Amino acid sequence: MSPSVTAEPVLTASTSTPHILDGIAIAAGIKAEVADEVAALAQQGIRPGLAVILVGNVPASEIYVRSKVKTCGELGIYSEMLTPPETITTDEMLELVAGLNAREDIDGILIQLPLPKHVDTRRLLEAVTPDKDVDGFHPVNAGRLQSGQPGLAPCTPAGIMEILRRSNLPVSGQNAVVVGRSDIVGKPAAMMLLNASATVTICHSKTKDLGAVTRGADILVAAIGRAGFVTAEMVKPGAVLIDVGINRVTDEAEMKSFFGDDAGRAATFAKRGSVVVGDIHPAAFAVSSAYTPVPGGVGALTIAMLMQNTVTAAKLRRGIPAGKA
Ligand code: NAP
Repeated sequence: MSPSVTAEPVLTASTSTPHILDGIAIAAGIKAEVADEVAALAQQGIRPGLAVILVGNVPASEIYVRSKVKTCGELGIYSEMLTPPETITTDEMLELVAGLNAREDIDGILIQLPLPKHVDTRRLLEAVTPDKDVDGFHPVNAGRLQSGQPGLAPCTPAGIMEILRRSNLPVSGQNAVVVGRSDIVGKPAAMMLLNASATVTICHSKTKDLGAVTRGADILVAAIGRAGFVTAEMVKPGAVLIDVGINRVTDEAEMKSFFGDDAGRAATFAKRGSVVVGDIHPAAFAVSSAYTPVPGGVGALTIAMLMQNTVTAAKLRRGIPAGKA
């Protein structure tokens, strides 16, 4: 059974052919809507602004930040990149954040992680005013999410909910199992699924008989950080699989254990010396009714959701209800 690709699949729980939930196409739709919202705000003389702080020279972080700034430009959002040196102290960073908190033209502040070890990351994330916390990491925004108030929600789990919503996959009344309880993915994903009336179970490294729990899932979210950890035996036939994991595999035998003789993956491996594998074993996707591929699934949504959060912040700060301008 070969999976079919649909940009905006319309699915029911009884679908028997696995659909690939195309994160790239869904992200493109969200970005187009954000561009429309930005244009509508411009009519009112408002231009949303995002400041990104990138400390030192971390090549992977530089790539992420550059693509965030580029996407801002494409959608009409003002952006500013601040690049303090690796040697910056926590106090100096706090001053930088205080300055951005006070600026009227900046609606969103993003501190690219990880920060150098000597910088107090928690203190900094909590120093960003919650109304400009476009990463949704501030405890006030975690509280708003928990109590169902409008606020800024973490981008990756918000992207998961958009994938489900825009693919017409039912959430209300479904058994959702989230494997992983991090503050940035697992916990907020579980809270969002609960807010959407799923019956939610959260698993972690101390969960007993994990497979027995995951086999009860209609929607299974894997946010673990271990390549191919969730196997086909752990999945209920027909489940919706949401794979958040991004794991780089550099061993050829391991790559083959996941992808067999897949020519595309072999070519990527030959070119780059690595392939990216999610937390769900690729063999498990055949058991599902729909799944997010890696790459091209959940990961593709994160920047689109950041853009959406920046526009939401611009509106909420001015007393405009979030949604259409
Ligand atoms: P994390 O902070 O390391 O959390 C991993 C979670 O997995 C923890 O809650 C841990 O349980 C749980 N876990 C570890 N081993 C387990 C096991 N054997 N059985 C059950 N649970 C286990 O990771 P994260 O930041 O949430 O990220 C998870 C994955 O998502 C990573 O691959 C990351 O690269 C990826 N990610 C992708 C995006 C994106 O697509 N844009 C964004 C963020 C993260 P304990 O709490 O008990 O230790």
